[in-house]
Amino acid sequence: MRILIVEDEPRMLELLRTGLYERGFTVMTAADGNTGLRMAMTHEIELIVLDIGLPDLNGYALMEGLRGCASVTPVLMLTARDAEEDIIRGLEAGADDYLTKPFSFPELVARIHSITRRKREEGGCAVKDSELEIDLVRRVVTRSGNGIDLTRLEFRLLQCLVRRAGQCVPRQDVMEFVWGADHAVGPTALDVLVNSLRAKLDAPYSRKLIGTLRGSGYTLRLPAAASRRKS
Ligand code: CA
Repeated sequence: MRILIVEDEPRMLELLRTGLYERGFTVMTAADGNTGLRMAMTHEIELIVLDIGLPDLNGYALMEGLRGCASVTPVLMLTARDAEEDIIRGLEAGADDYLTKPFSFPELVARIHSITRRKREEGGCAVKDSELEIDLVRRVVTRSGNGIDLTRLEFRLLQCLVRRAGQCVPRQDVMEFVWGADHAVGPTALDVLVNSLRAKLDAPYSRKLIGTLRGSGYTLRLPAAASRRKS
């Protein structure tokens, strides 16, 4: 399970990184909010441990950025203040749970497990209507009741388009999301991947969901009634 820790205090960051690593988690770290948000948007992360007091983009703003892009990645927020208004503000911004500093490590780990278990039970539907259903947590896609079996990269491509459904997503952004910022694949790889996703998601149906904006990018046209739920 891959966890992203966003914390600006070096000692706290190191404590969290080492502690979670020793308990078997794969850990990524960011020391400021902008880096944290960028990492959360471009990597497959299963949970974010997020400090609220960050120097540039604070934890609330980071969560708003994340939820604004339809990300359902669970967030456990860490706050130095146990003022009720701060906690309510964090939960409203999209945090799934919180811990106030100082906290015990076993409690942190227990919260992480409880959030991820709850998320798996709830599912993480980014899109759900009678025609199309995409569950980002279980990684299940169905169209008109038929399960669609996608490869890891096809799912990643779909996830990228869902996050910005209805907008034109530039080819370069898609490639960075699917293969990472320092990818070494050529543009043909993207054409091939888009074709294979279309063959599964669109070919059997008259209404095509994936649109091409020639030379610039792709767009996902969701069914009119589809609801995008910000978990
Ligand atoms: Ca801090």
